[in-house]
Amino acid sequence: MMSMPHGQSYDYHRTTFDGERNERCGCCVRTMKWFPVLFIASVIGWSYYAFVIQLSFFTVTNIVQRILFLLFYHAVLVMFLWSYYQTVFTDIGRVPSRFHVPRAELDRIVRATNEVEQKEILETFAKELPVVTRTLNASVRFCDKCRLIKPDRAHHCSVCGVCVLKLDHHCPWVNNCINFTNYKYFILFLGYALLYCVYVACSTIPYMELLWTGKIDGRFHILFLFFVSVMFAISLVSLFGYHVYLVLLNRTTLESFRTPIFRFGGPDKNGFSLGKLNNFQEVFGDDWRLWFVPVYTSMGDGVVYPMRCYDEDAEALLGGEQHGNRSGTENLHDFEAATFLNEYGNLMN
Ligand SMILES: [Zn+2]
Ligand SMILES: [Zn+2]
Repeated sequence: MMSMPHGQSYDYHRTTFDGERNERCGCCVRTMKWFPVLFIASVIGWSYYAFVIQLSFFTVTNIVQRILFLLFYHAVLVMFLWSYYQTVFTDIGRVPSRFHVPRAELDRIVRATNEVEQKEILETFAKELPVVTRTLNASVRFCDKCRLIKPDRAHHCSVCGVCVLKLDHHCPWVNNCINFTNYKYFILFLGYALLYCVYVACSTIPYMELLWTGKIDGRFHILFLFFVSVMFAISLVSLFGYHVYLVLLNRTTLESFRTPIFRFGGPDKNGFSLGKLNNFQEVFGDDWRLWFVPVYTSMGDGVVYPMRCYDEDAEALLGGEQHGNRSGTENLHDFEAATFLNEYGNLMN
């Protein structure tokens, strides 16, 4: 469960954190991490020149068509760049301080003579915390690098060197973790990037014959624009489709490979799923006017997540009045406990 040694004192000054290791490598590593972002920015910059100057101004002769071309192009470009900027520069969701295990508890864990004792100390500490997921051997999820209890759906990112709320994956193309704070932006970025590529590719098609026969200038840029946009569109369509599918199932990429294990329910791939519309609203918010605008509208705090089957069954189980004064989270936990204790009690041990 834990990599901490038994019967020794905890080394608070160890320098094996990924973040600290990166620090030693200095600005070289930090700069290199921006290369994929610079590459994307360069491709967008070049595509702007190819579309606006070479295609719209030098190739399209009809003025009305040129205006329409440029209007729609810039509308898509603004949304694409805005969501990309938000994905790249939104700070990752960090674990609140109450999840950090105090030094005294860490010492007790290290001094513990076996894993069962370590597990009990963590379990006692986690009693006050809203965590319902566990490790494979039914322990509280603990990160010995960050020295904290991992909130549900949080995972340690080895690139960022910290635990991140609702971690989906670390994406080098945005040099950031895709997580609770920027998941909506990331999906919008994929969607608008796909729309951008499809629009640019479709806009060049009517001129392909003229370009191919060399009857107009800017042949290289416009031909290349077509092939690059088609290539990006093909890779984006599968990625975008996959993330839309994950949003509708309320599942992260990590969870689709590693099924979350619930304290009272055991492994359940759909444990956080609340139905397609609710799952969508959890990420995109409940105001449809802002669904496709890259501003923050995701619901929740990134720490506590509603569990499935809540709406219909939880109220019946808890009774209407008892439900009245309690928060949704408390109800959800009670519901989860009562239901699954009966069905899966044996799995806990
Ligand atoms: Zn961590
Ligand atoms: Zn990361």
